[in-house]
Amino acid sequence: MSCIEPKTSPAARSDKDGSDHNPFDVMQPRFPDKTPTDRKNGRHVKANDIAPQGVYLPNNNIMAPHMKSPEYVQLSTAAAITLGIMGGRMYGCECTRCLNLLLTYPEGCRANCAYCGLARHREADRDYADRNFIRVDWPAVPMAEIIDIVARDPDNSPFHRMCISMITHPRSESDTFTVLEQWMDRIEPDAIPVSILSNPTTMKRADVQRTRELGADIFTVALDAATPAVFDRTRGKGVQSPHKWSKYWEIMLDAKDIFGPQKFGAHIIVGMGETEYEVLQLVQELVDIGGHSHMFCFFPEKGSLMDHLPATPRDQWRRVQLARYLIDYRGVRVEQMRFDDMGRVKNYGISDAELSHIIEEGIAFRTSGCPGKFRDDISACDRPYGDSPPSDIASYPFAPKKKDIKRIRKQLEIPVRVE
Ligand code: SF4
Repeated sequence: MSCIEPKTSPAARSDKDGSDHNPFDVMQPRFPDKTPTDRKNGRHVKANDIAPQGVYLPNNNIMAPHMKSPEYVQLSTAAAITLGIMGGRMYGCECTRCLNLLLTYPEGCRANCAYCGLARHREADRDYADRNFIRVDWPAVPMAEIIDIVARDPDNSPFHRMCISMITHPRSESDTFTVLEQWMDRIEPDAIPVSILSNPTTMKRADVQRTRELGADIFTVALDAATPAVFDRTRGKGVQSPHKWSKYWEIMLDAKDIFGPQKFGAHIIVGMGETEYEVLQLVQELVDIGGHSHMFCFFPEKGSLMDHLPATPRDQWRRVQLARYLIDYRGVRVEQMRFDDMGRVKNYGISDAELSHIIEEGIAFRTSGCPGKFRDDISACDRPYGDSPPSDIASYPFAPKKKDIKRIRKQLEIPVRVE
């Protein structure tokens, strides 16, 4: 199994007729179908009594109802390859620097987010353990086995960070605490710090506090949508999902108080119907309160409620990536930038020479996320090919090479300056 995905991937558009971005009126998710009663809540999986055995690879098609957190977690294919649990290669990178873990249950996530492969409506056609988040598979592995491997030599681990992703489930908080405690018992946080990627719908302030007390270093909120309207349509009432924008902000502000500056933030998906101006305003707001934004490019995951929609055009994505990097790490403010009447970035608010230098450096186009051990603006969480195929990379999981920068410049329509 390899991270080089064999799936056919919808090409990102880049037209010159004004459709070089994904506007709100186009990005309407379809409505979820009704789930047959015998498949609701993982019922047919729970009707079995097969004990889980070791590593479970998606599509093994074994119904093991006891394969659940905290004993089991899912982990990204990249993390499984890096740990040596799975074989395979990843285009352009030897390993991932972040051990991304995901809580797992036979009834799966109880939310219904329109862009997500794990959404509740998918129980109609796939068991939870066989679904993938977005693009890459997430095998299920006993937590004890993961800890045993990492604890052999944490100081020399390829991982610069571990992250626990919560899903929407009644056991999500208590199992996050257990997984975190088990990890901290064996692995010093100085060797490998831990991030929490939260789903606030079932959370209270005390839960945020507890993750801090147990040793978590950074707390992020999977806000995903950049505006209340996009949020409601893709993760709230629009798709029979329980999430509320206000609850996500409440928990993010709790994290701001509890974890402090530079230790909290939000995940944002670009290209679900917000304008570039709107998403960059949000980036600015996060910076102004002391946090960070971690960005993903929208990818129409097969089987999701948005699989009929276009991936984010690369021009839109590159403009937002570049502007977000300037706001997050170079002290440029959104007010210094100029936008056209469709909210697209027209000027980045710095000189052409400075801009050119930052483009050449390439860091702005790498995957964004919690920092690793190289430098603050290089994310440990490189998520290889989690938002694009290797043939048309959105977030670079490695330092972009000369030919990549040439391509990026073309997508940005910013040629090399000749003095
Ligand atoms: S809460 Fe997270 S895991 Fe669950 S459907 Fe939404 S995006 Fe997917």
